[in-house]
Amino acid sequence: VTCRELVELVTAYFEGALPEEERAAFDEHLAVCPGCVRYVEQLRTTIRVVGDADRLGDSPEVGVLLGAFRDWKRARPTTG
Ligand SMILES: [Zn+2]
Repeated sequence: VTCRELVELVTAYFEGALPEEERAAFDEHLAVCPGCVRYVEQLRTTIRVVGDADRLGDSPEVGVLLGAFRDWKRARPTTG
């Protein structure tokens, strides 16, 4: 998967809603992309604060993180 796809999959990842195949692809990307690892760790911390992965989509904190990450990727289109 690309960084962009990872961002799209990340809420499903934390909800445990990813099919095994996509979850494996997600983990493979994390193995080679420190930027996404940092992002996922931030999100994991946020989830601990929010306390409920099912409410991720409703969380303003997560919305901010997702938006920031999308902007970050947009500023660096060549990092794929
Ligand atoms: Zn990445």
